[in-house]
Amino acid sequence: MSLLTSSTLKPRLMKTALNTLYYSRLYRFLERDWQGVGAIFTLHHISLPGAGAAFAPNRILDVTTDFLDDTLTLVREAGYDIVSLDEVRRRLRERDFSRRFVAFTLDDGYLNNYKLAWPIFRRHNAPFTIYVATALPDGNALLWWEILERVIAGQAEISATIDGRQQTWPTGDTTEKYAAWDAIYQQLRRMPEVEQRRTVADLAEACGIDTREHCIEQSMSWDIIRELASDDLVTIGAHTVNHYALAKLPEAALIDEVTRSRALIEEHTGVRPLHFSYPYGDPSSAAAREFRLIESLGFHTATTTRKAMLYPEHADHLTALPRISLNGDYQSNHYTRLFLTGAPFALSNRFRRLVVD
Ligand SMILES: [Zn+2]
Repeated sequence: MSLLTSSTLKPRLMKTALNTLYYSRLYRFLERDWQGVGAIFTLHHISLPGAGAAFAPNRILDVTTDFLDDTLTLVREAGYDIVSLDEVRRRLRERDFSRRFVAFTLDDGYLNNYKLAWPIFRRHNAPFTIYVATALPDGNALLWWEILERVIAGQAEISATIDGRQQTWPTGDTTEKYAAWDAIYQQLRRMPEVEQRRTVADLAEACGIDTREHCIEQSMSWDIIRELASDDLVTIGAHTVNHYALAKLPEAALIDEVTRSRALIEEHTGVRPLHFSYPYGDPSSAAAREFRLIESLGFHTATTTRKAMLYPEHADHLTALPRISLNGDYQSNHYTRLFLTGAPFALSNRFRRLVVD
């Protein structure tokens, strides 16, 4: 047995806690007050079922077609309406809470959203939103977290200059790979965005990975995005150009990232995006300044990755909406059922309904 590293330990502890909450039925004490009026789900990659690699630190960003299919069935059977983000906004503003509702969102603009997810949403006649970071269809995105995974997966040792310091990590086995991932990922997240991208680009080059080819393989083209946008079930939202953590940018650069991505999507699809999702979406990437600026730029809604249900109070915080991640670590219907009770988030948010700080 390998030692547990933080990338594997935390999900195991979390699963134990969630399973205790579910199988003890303790969630029933919280459900009535905390299930809220609805929820917005977050997805990234959709893939065909198959055996995963031992080292897969981005696994949380990937769910199978079967799980997506099951989730859509489960949500409908549980009596929820599956609605667009326009409809989420309308129901919150008009306080139309006669029926509970769920919206599905997919971040970044991956090709598998078109090939694998779109047919499933169509079969269920379920609306959904894809938030596109426009550097993906333009072929210029450095999907640095995926590149870092490929670098570590393929090497027995890696060296990188971080904060002006040359550092080396052994990456011979899965345990070492996860330890290196944890150390490097955290340091990269803290770096200024341009330096972060340069560091990963250097690593990729040293390992012979073509980052542009990787981006083109993973991303939807503009032709595909246009085709999707013509489907009444699909909303195309904005997600910046370069997927930078907006909180790290000066205001002018933030506004440029957001308005350029909106203009590009409008140019390619003929529809001006009204919905936005913050890259990363955690408090270090999007907070009060970002919520205010996105509102001032005229977006109707914006979503974070703060985990919570929707409550009536969110009508006054439409550019700071929480979401629930349907992620690769929790691909079982009982987790989805538990998430919809709101109980796990009542606990993790210490009984606050609004997590907008
Ligand atoms: Zn993203």
